[in-house]
Amino acid sequence: MGLVYNSTRNASETVQASEAILKGLANEGGLFVPSEIPALDRSFSELAQMSYQEIAYEVMKLYLTDFTEEELKHCIRSAYDSKFDTESIASLVKKKDAYFLELFHGATIAFKDMALSILPYLMTTSAKKNHVRNEIVILTATSGDTGKAALAGFADVPGTRIIVFYPKHGVSPIQERQMVTQRGENTYVIGIEGNFDDAQTGVKKMFQDPVLAEEMNAAGYQFSSANSINIGRLVPQVVYYVYSYAALLARGEIREGEEINVVVPTGNFGNILAAYYAKLMGTPIAKLICASNENKVLFDFFSTGCYDRNREFILTSSPSMDILISSNLERLIYQTAGRDADKNKELMRSLNETGRYTVTDEMRRQMDAFYGNYASEQETAQAIKAMYEAEGYIMDTHTAVADSVYRKYKEETKDGRKTVIASTASPYKFTRSVMNAIDPSYDNRSDFELIDELNKLSGVKIPQAIEDIRSAPVLHDTVCETEDMCKEVKRILSIG
Ligand SMILES: *Cc1c(COP(=O)(O)O)cnc(C)c1O
Repeated sequence: MGLVYNSTRNASETVQASEAILKGLANEGGLFVPSEIPALDRSFSELAQMSYQEIAYEVMKLYLTDFTEEELKHCIRSAYDSKFDTESIASLVKKKDAYFLELFHGATIAFKDMALSILPYLMTTSAKKNHVRNEIVILTATSGDTGKAALAGFADVPGTRIIVFYPKHGVSPIQERQMVTQRGENTYVIGIEGNFDDAQTGVKKMFQDPVLAEEMNAAGYQFSSANSINIGRLVPQVVYYVYSYAALLARGEIREGEEINVVVPTGNFGNILAAYYAKLMGTPIAKLICASNENKVLFDFFSTGCYDRNREFILTSSPSMDILISSNLERLIYQTAGRDADKNKELMRSLNETGRYTVTDEMRRQMDAFYGNYASEQETAQAIKAMYEAEGYIMDTHTAVADSVYRKYKEETKDGRKTVIASTASPYKFTRSVMNAIDPSYDNRSDFELIDELNKLSGVKIPQAIEDIRSAPVLHDTVCETEDMCKEVKRILSIG
């Protein structure tokens, strides 16, 4: 069977893929990582002939080693279907000197759909394989996009409930509306009086509480996670980096083996980690360009080797990247520490206790492929306007952060490699910020007027996800303090 999953914090905890998906988080707060990064067993000239779904199978079969071919193909078929508004699932469009990998063609118009449309199928398949009788309670912290994508994926899935916590004052109006109008008997949405890091910390605490786990179990429940700490999120994200290389090759934009760069607008470090895995699997990627907004903790980390979250949390126009504790970085730390769980655990303890840690020079050397930079609010707005004026193409704020950082990288290094920019959300999800960037006088219009204006300017059809919320009733209005998150969960499940 070969590949299994290890915890980044305990060398003796080893599980199969399906168990890792079910558990979400390892014991002691560790993350599950594959015991080795598998190499692609198809050449890119073969992959270039394949559909998105076929490539998904070729990549995911290497990680989900205890799934049968039939099980995995069923999950892929069920996930990547007409829920996406393009047959290719992800579009790759050339604008200026870069290829934008549009990952927002799914049901909730952000890249989270790429993984969260398949996660419910991976989860229910895993539950069946492991003879789980408990109802699975998906507990999720969101900076805006994960919440809606997870709600859409798990709504009315038998044997599951989903509870989403979001920062009440830290998401875009459209993001909030998308979540609070969610239908489904098994869905719960709660705003917290805190930021994303507070939500994520509160959720992680519940995962690690053995007393709560016991109470849950007695009542017939167990937790799992839809956050990018779940390996069932990470693995499907590797697929589109392999796919984008295959697509460039199929179109004759690159020669087989020619190296490309990838730019990823980054928050929790899940998406760019998937690109790193794609590189380690054999995709010819030279640089992984990590783009941050003004919460530039990762830029500082790649520049100095010191990760330091002791700073002001800034609310920006790219809220899904407003994060100071990038959870998935732990997987890179573990990898570059020579897969040493004790060493990693020590650094994470330091992060927990002092808010910072410093990696060794040897570890930094192993992170050579990463380049970090950031874009200010003003630079982000300028990028949107400049692209609109040059190409008539309208980027969302997150993609604009990536575009802006790409220009800085190119200026600094003169690197002329072909470059893929992960385009993580539809501009319709951040309409106000996007329209203000193009012309500040739009600011006095209502959100729905701006949507119609964006449609006029871009000529891009208004997505169904936006049409759906125009008149949908608000079904969730609970707000709580950060310290009451656990109380809310117990109330929902009627325990304790
Ligand atoms: C979640 C998200 C990001 C950040 O992705 P990570 O995997 O957390 O680094 C960037 N852009 C958008 C639109 C997102 O929803």
